[in-house]
Amino acid sequence: MSITAEQIAFDQQHIWHPYSSMINPPPAYPVESAEGVRIRLADGRELIDGMGSWWSVIHGYGHPVLNAAAHQQIDKMSHVMFGGLTHQPAIELARALVEMTPEKLDKVFLADSGSVAVEVAIKMAIQYWHARGLAEKHKLITIRNGYHGDTFGAMAVCDPVNGMHEIFTGVLPQQLFAPAPQIGFDQPWDEADIEPLAQLLADNHQQIAALILEPIVQGAGGMRFYSPSYLKRARELCDNHQVLLIADEIATGFGRTGELFACQHAGITPDILCVGKALTGGYMTLAATLTNSHIGETISAGGAGCFMHGPTFMGNPLACAVAGASLKLLRDSDWQGRVRCIEQGLKQGLAAAAELDSVAEVRCLGAIGVVEMKAPVDTVEIQKLFIERGLWIRPFGKLVYVMPPYVISDADLQLLTDGMVSALQAYRG
Ligand SMILES: *Cc1c(COP(=O)(O)O)cnc(C)c1O
Repeated sequence: MSITAEQIAFDQQHIWHPYSSMINPPPAYPVESAEGVRIRLADGRELIDGMGSWWSVIHGYGHPVLNAAAHQQIDKMSHVMFGGLTHQPAIELARALVEMTPEKLDKVFLADSGSVAVEVAIKMAIQYWHARGLAEKHKLITIRNGYHGDTFGAMAVCDPVNGMHEIFTGVLPQQLFAPAPQIGFDQPWDEADIEPLAQLLADNHQQIAALILEPIVQGAGGMRFYSPSYLKRARELCDNHQVLLIADEIATGFGRTGELFACQHAGITPDILCVGKALTGGYMTLAATLTNSHIGETISAGGAGCFMHGPTFMGNPLACAVAGASLKLLRDSDWQGRVRCIEQGLKQGLAAAAELDSVAEVRCLGAIGVVEMKAPVDTVEIQKLFIERGLWIRPFGKLVYVMPPYVISDADLQLLTDGMVSALQAYRG
């Protein structure tokens, strides 16, 4: 049975959507199903998904291999507690993560969402220094324009201006912020870019547990791409000042930027790594926090004798089975070739947008294309223009951006970029 007007009215009356209002909420388009790179609306219209459901759908919707993995697992058990019990889906997923991620990251914590993976990373860093008798090292340092999630520990390291710090001042722990890197991904390096971070670390390292950042691509905090040299220097600074490095690869992980992990653009290994979003190929929520043996063992040798976290749905077998199948699909595919093709297609297809008066800059990296406008766009208005052109794109602020599934065909990618340019041409803000 297809969706009714009553159901849509109920949604508007009773359901929070992400960052939504309970007074005159904007319309949420009802979706009937999704297949490949297309979302089918209840009225039969089909939209090419430019968002990959927020970075997560990399193999397309309804992939037969992932569907089969979910069916097989659900017939055995959908869930069982992880305290005192274990199972193959979690073991094989953890094995794949240890193998795929940079060397030395071999202890895996399975978390329920990206935000939780970040909370876990922060707790690991604090527990590590506590176990070493340096409990005063409990602050975090980060760079502006970051986004790390919506829970309290994560919010505290989101950009203080475009994040939610104003409302929660006095509630959030006060962390340290360096300016965002200014040198772009392809631009020549200048040591001045890292100077403010270096200074803050030199002045405050005795209180700092970890530097947390999104390597190379700052996602929801501005869709900015910065220099691998910045990341290399940040790693060196952390080593010199006895500060751990947490890489939040929840958006960038699993090939999105052209490397399997964005840290690899700089050839560095973080002490703690967070992954999420694409982990299950966008099928369901699951994330993970990885660290090395030294940190894992130091935490465990501390006063608590264990790491202090363990959610109810930790290691959910259904999510782990799908994630394991998704990582195998990725490894068996020519994802790097596909991402390179998408980068070319985005660069060529979006070049015309750079000519528009309303556009400040167009930038592409891997399977990410960003059109930064000169002024914030009206999401509801511009969304209508995208939908008329058969596209699903959801901008925020000045940023109109896409990160399509890796399986998008060249022809569909062309439809996506042509439609995007045409909608931006038609848009009168
Ligand atoms: C999306 C995101 C998060 C939060 O993940 P959720 O699953 O939404 O909690 C954290 N960090 C980064 C870099 C993200 O892109």
